[in-house]
Amino acid sequence: MSRDARADGTFVLAVRSTHIYCRPSCPARRPLRRNVVFFRTGEEAEKQGFRACLRCKPNEIAGPVALVEAASRELAASGEDTVRFGALATKLGSTPATLRRAFLQVTGLRPRELAEALRLARFKKMLREGKRITDALYETGYGSSSRVYERSNAQLGMTPATYRKGGRGMKIGYSITKSGLGKVLVAATDRGVSAVYLGDADAKLVEELRDEYPRAEISVAAGSFEKWVKEIVERVEGKPPRVELPLDLQATAFQRRVWQELQQIPRGSTRTYSQVARALGNPKAVRAVARACATNPVSIVVPCHRVIREDGNLAGYRWGVGRKEQLLAQERAAG
Ligand SMILES: [Zn+2]
Repeated sequence: MSRDARADGTFVLAVRSTHIYCRPSCPARRPLRRNVVFFRTGEEAEKQGFRACLRCKPNEIAGPVALVEAASRELAASGEDTVRFGALATKLGSTPATLRRAFLQVTGLRPRELAEALRLARFKKMLREGKRITDALYETGYGSSSRVYERSNAQLGMTPATYRKGGRGMKIGYSITKSGLGKVLVAATDRGVSAVYLGDADAKLVEELRDEYPRAEISVAAGSFEKWVKEIVERVEGKPPRVELPLDLQATAFQRRVWQELQQIPRGSTRTYSQVARALGNPKAVRAVARACATNPVSIVVPCHRVIREDGNLAGYRWGVGRKEQLLAQERAAG
């Protein structure tokens, strides 16, 4: 209904009375709801006897989402370090400017950041497959180990040597504490907090942690980070922060920017996804912001519960929307 062009390429709407199908952003007058059926692709609509709309041309190269999907497939297959946007755009029947805009809009990343993320992803994949670090460095064009080690803390969340073994050699301690919102799992390395999960069953929380670091040495924490746990439980109960919490996270450059922005939202206040996107100087990255919120591993410390939908709806929360509601209510009450 909102003709949101970001939905183009994700589905088409077909009108029974006219036998025509459109992309979501079609400027034509909206048909009666009861006459509309939805298809994932234009081909599916055509199989059912619908014809493409001449105004929005839904069978031609699609909106930003489809364009980015196609470009990402090309980039991943090519394995190149530099994004040659001109050639890529031409190949996809688009222009460099359109493609660049589409990337920023859909992924929230600039081409250079995207190329870097893809390269790091290739590097990580090679290590997981058991390739030697020096070979992986050479093949991904990092040139020297210092360049990737430089980034390792920021983007890999651990050194390449640790990553290669799926976190083997990494020591993660966790503790589970009761709080006003059920159980809280806090996990940390000696560099900082890596996970804060909320839930009901201990076993389920530990399982989530093991999924995150399949080969890390995970054990019940020694007393050393009691102070962090106490601080986090207090924040869960709406109390103001008292201790600075160091973080040790795996994140992309964009996730990091979103999470830092979320930490600026005052307690008890909320922001919408698009307000966060605007604050990042990237007003169209609303969906990318929502994804970064959904993948936040350190709830509470990065207060993704303070981000809501435009209409005031609380939207989802990895640990249950009931908990999100309660967190906000407690923060407001604590003043
Ligand atoms: Zn149309």
